[in-house]
Amino acid sequence: QLRRRLESELEEIRGAGTWKSERVIASRQGPHLHLAGGGAGIINFCANNYLGLSSHPEVIRAAVEALEKFGAGLSSVRFICGTQSIHKDLEEKIACFHQREDAILYASCFDANAGIFEALLTPEDAVLSDELNHASIIDGIRLCKANKYRYKHMDMQDLEAKLKEAQKHRLRLVATDGAFSMDGDIAPLREICQLAQKYDALVFIDECHATGFLGPNGRGTDELLGVMDKVTIINSTLGKALGGAAGGYTTGPKPLIDLLRQRSRPYLFSNSLPPAVVGCASKALDLLMESNAIAQSMAAKTQRFRSKMTAAGFTISGKDHPICPVMLGDARLASVMAEDMLNRGIYVIGFSYPVVPKGKARIRVQISAVHSDEDIDRCVEAFTQVGRKHGALP
Ligand code: PLP
Repeated sequence: QLRRRLESELEEIRGAGTWKSERVIASRQGPHLHLAGGGAGIINFCANNYLGLSSHPEVIRAAVEALEKFGAGLSSVRFICGTQSIHKDLEEKIACFHQREDAILYASCFDANAGIFEALLTPEDAVLSDELNHASIIDGIRLCKANKYRYKHMDMQDLEAKLKEAQKHRLRLVATDGAFSMDGDIAPLREICQLAQKYDALVFIDECHATGFLGPNGRGTDELLGVMDKVTIINSTLGKALGGAAGGYTTGPKPLIDLLRQRSRPYLFSNSLPPAVVGCASKALDLLMESNAIAQSMAAKTQRFRSKMTAAGFTISGKDHPICPVMLGDARLASVMAEDMLNRGIYVIGFSYPVVPKGKARIRVQISAVHSDEDIDRCVEAFTQVGRKHGALP
C-alpha cells in the first residue's frame, strides 16, 4: 500500500514537470566541470561558489593540513569532547570578520536556523518573517513557540502593520534573508532597521547569499547597506562563498552566543565540524580579510551577464546580485531549456514549484569570480539560441 501511494505521488511530480534529478560531477567544483558519463568542458553556472574558493589551491592545502594534524573528525558533539583549538579559532575569526562579539559553529546554516529561534524566543515573544524567507528559517520558526507574523515580501508597509500588532509581545525579532536565493533581490535592510528601531525590535539576517562578497569588503548585506551596527544577529554558511565545504554559524552579542551553547539543539545534539572543513573555511576567511579583489571581480562579471541578457530580451530578476534568475514562467519550458543549454555545454538548472511559486519557473544562473568574460558571453549566446528555439524569445 505504501509503495503504491509513493509511486502515485512520484508520478504526480513527474507529470507536473517538477521532477528534480541529480547530475553527477566527476571533477572538482569550479567554473569548468567534467560530468560523469562523458560531458567534459561544461561551463558551470549553478554553484554557490561565488568567489571560486571551493577548489582554491590554498583552501585545499589548508584542509589537508587540518586533516593531518587534527584527524578525520571528533566523534563527539562540541561540549563533550568535540572542541579543538581550530573550532575556537574559526569562531573568533568569524566574529572578527563580521565585527560581532562572538560566534558559534554548526554543521550547516540549516542547523543554525533550526537552532536560533527556539533557543531565543518564548511564547511571550514574537517573530516577524518575510514570506519568501529560506525554508530553513521557516522550519526554524516552526520549531519555536513565539507568536508568528509573516509579512509580504520586502513590503515595509506590511512589516510596519505587523510590528504594530506585535507591540503587545515582550520581544520582537524581524527575520529576513539578506539576499533572497531564488530571486537575487536584496532585503531593504535600512528601512527594516529603521522600523525595528521605531518599534523596538531586533533584526536577524540570513547571509548565506551575501557573506564574502556583498559590500565593499564582502562582509555582507549589512555592510552593503551601511547597517552593520543595527543588525543584531547574523546566520550564515561556510558552504557557499567561504570555501564551499560545509558548516554554518550564528554571530552576534556574546550572551546570545553563550545561550545558544546551552540551549541550541542542533549544536548540543550533533557532531562537531570535521577539521578539514574547519581548515577550508578558516583559509577562505584569511583570503578575504587580506584583500577584497576577488569579491570585486565577481561584481563586474555579474554586471556583464545581467546587461547582456537584458539586451537579448530576457527578464532577469533581482539587481546587482550574482544570482541572476532568468524568468520564464512555465515549469516545463524552464526544464526543457535547461536541458538544451547543457547540450550546448552550459550547465544551468530550472527551478519550479515547490521551490518557487507556481507560474514563476525560472532558470537560475549564478556568476562566480572565476568565470571568464568568454564563459559569460558563451552562456548569453546559448540562452539566446535556446530561447528562440523554444519560443521564450521572439
Ligand atoms: N539559508 C539560505 C538562504 C540558503 O540558501 C541555504 C542553503 O541553501 C541555507 C540557509 C542552508 O545553508 P547550509 O547549506 O549551510 O545548510
